Amino acid sequence: MKRILITGAAGFLGSHLCDRFIKERYYVFGMDNLITGDLKNIEHLFKLDNFEFYHHDVTKFVHVPGQLDYILHFASPASPIDYLKIPIQTLKVGALGTHNLLGLAKGKGARILIASTSEVYGDPLVHPQTEEYYGNVNTIGPRGVYDEAKRFQESITMAYHRFHGLETRIVRIFNTYGPRMRLNDGRVIPAFMGQALRGEDLTVFGDGSQTRSFCYVDDQIEGIYRLLLSDYSLPINIGNPHEITIKDFAEEIIKLTGTDQKIIYEPLPKDDPLQRQPDITKAKEILGWEPKVGRAEGMKKTFDYFKTLSKEDLQKTEHRDFTSRNKL
Ligand code: UDP
Repeated sequence: MKRILITGAAGFLGSHLCDRFIKERYYVFGMDNLITGDLKNIEHLFKLDNFEFYHHDVTKFVHVPGQLDYILHFASPASPIDYLKIPIQTLKVGALGTHNLLGLAKGKGARILIASTSEVYGDPLVHPQTEEYYGNVNTIGPRGVYDEAKRFQESITMAYHRFHGLETRIVRIFNTYGPRMRLNDGRVIPAFMGQALRGEDLTVFGDGSQTRSFCYVDDQIEGIYRLLLSDYSLPINIGNPHEITIKDFAEEIIKLTGTDQKIIYEPLPKDDPLQRQPDITKAKEILGWEPKVGRAEGMKKTFDYFKTLSKEDLQKTEHRDFTSRNKL
């Protein structure tokens, strides 16, 4: 049985990765410090004899007993509201955490895949974003703690690859959605779904002309799985190229949820990228991968998930605090 360590195991993507590798009959070590993760996402795995959970912060020395074949590093806050609330942890997990996990991979002779992000492109001046684009990042803005940690993460990963001959993989993840997204992470999909379910108006930031391209979680997991098992060690974009403005997206959500909420407009947060769309030519050619789930189907599944949450959970949603955000 192949043995894999998944950090950020109790998070949105981490928990889906645990499910996938359990299904593929791996022995899975899940690790999480539970700052933004939730044990509810993986509690169904605790009864299995090929799953073990470690409550641990990867910015501290990481130990896993015995042999390891693979490491997936998915531990990190991943929403703008989290970067504001826990900026130092965001920097540390991308920098110190990655260093510890690269060291562990080297010690165990394991292959390691690092979760990077479209945020390395910042507010992009090239559209759609190809892997060759170097990006346009404000180092000292509110997103800088995430963007720069992820850029450093890519650099140190390539250094371990080139200097130590470590087997490394880097996925640049574009906006991904689906069941188990945290309702209160401030991201647009949980925000709109929570608002629709509570009967509140949908808050569009700016004039809503900014774009995003949303990838359903099952497609994202398939792309990551293929990349891990491939021979390709340079960064690769995984995302859905179907782009939409946030205003049109809010209208779609209102239709989907069958509610009669209105759209209200609030100020655009600082450094909010104006457009984002992955160029996935490389993923198609190298991994034979492309997304299969359209937005209508994916959003319906996601809404069905949010409908199962309790009234109490629904009330917990936080609205983003723009005043403090824009002060930074
Ligand atoms: N957004 C919005 N209303 C909300 C939350 C987000 O209009 O209640 C916008 C946000 O300004 C951004 C887009 O939706 O332009 C996606 O935001 P999200 O935080 O989901 O992800 P990211 O900006 O990191 O892509």
